[in-house]
Amino acid sequence: MTLLIDHTTTNADWLQDITSFLNCGEICAIPTETVYGLAGRADMPDALIKIYEAKKRPKFNPLICHVADIEMAAQHVQMNKKAEILADAFWPGALTLVLPKKDKSTVHDLASAGLDTLAVRCPVGPLAECARELSAPLAAPSANLSGYVSATCARDVLDDLKGRISAVLDAGPCTIGIESTILSLCDDKPIILRSGGITRDALENILGEEIALYHSQNKKAPIAPGMLSSHYAPCSKMRLNADTLYKGEALLAFGTPVFPVDKAVSIAQLSAERDLQVASYNLFSHLRMLDACGADQIAVMPIPNEGLGEAINDRLKRAAAPKY
Ligand code: AMP
Ligand code: MG
Repeated sequence: MTLLIDHTTTNADWLQDITSFLNCGEICAIPTETVYGLAGRADMPDALIKIYEAKKRPKFNPLICHVADIEMAAQHVQMNKKAEILADAFWPGALTLVLPKKDKSTVHDLASAGLDTLAVRCPVGPLAECARELSAPLAAPSANLSGYVSATCARDVLDDLKGRISAVLDAGPCTIGIESTILSLCDDKPIILRSGGITRDALENILGEEIALYHSQNKKAPIAPGMLSSHYAPCSKMRLNADTLYKGEALLAFGTPVFPVDKAVSIAQLSAERDLQVASYNLFSHLRMLDACGADQIAVMPIPNEGLGEAINDRLKRAAAPKY
């Protein structure tokens, strides 16, 4: 059974309820500003196994560990100057840092998938509060079935994971709606392993240097085992950069379409004003909605590849990639 725990009203017991589950090695979905996370204690192998099994996630794909603050992060990874500057500037927030894992870290190898590096993030909201209450980092991948569209509200979590996890903490929809930016700081040159809620520009402005995006062809880049070509994918087929609509298609619009849409099976508007922040907030919920509308295919209008558009296009490209 999966318990739905309310965080939106004055439920003073939520922290106690959720942390009791986590302390018993159970797993709970907990919202962050990015997407809902499926959390378990990162120092409890039983909890980590449950996360991989509930999501049907391949065990080679490591988990991000969520911390209460920089001090907690520094217990588990070797912080360096750039990491301190960025954590100061963006935490709590949608930035994950990949750093060398400390030998004395209590985070179990299952969380880091046996790598000698660890991904850490201090999120906004209840997940960080739980980590603080427990004095332990919480491993939390997105609370959806592996490879499927991420969950940005409690309803979406239940659709995917009901009966497979102990509880969902319902704090309403996530404010950003797209995952964190993952930045590796293991080498001299920082590299973005995944675009996300903090833009490349914002990182470059704080660090005062250019930051490259990871491409799997780039042999010198660090390994990002989770960068699977098919991910975030609805069951329906997807067609990107659509400037027309075919029979039987649904439309994921960005701005007003200048082509006929009267035959669309369904239309979901990411942002009528072409606002990328609004579009990322709507992206996953709209993809889930169109996936359920019975169309042959989802056509997606072009999105500019700048600012948050980099993260949105990354998700759309993987969502449209062939599934193996
Ligand atoms: P999610 O499962 O949506 O939370 O995404 C987590 C992402 O972080 C996955 O793509 C992982 O591959 C990536 N990740 C986690 N830990 C590491 C690490 N130590 N090195 C590189 N990538 C990592
Ligand atoms: Mg995910």
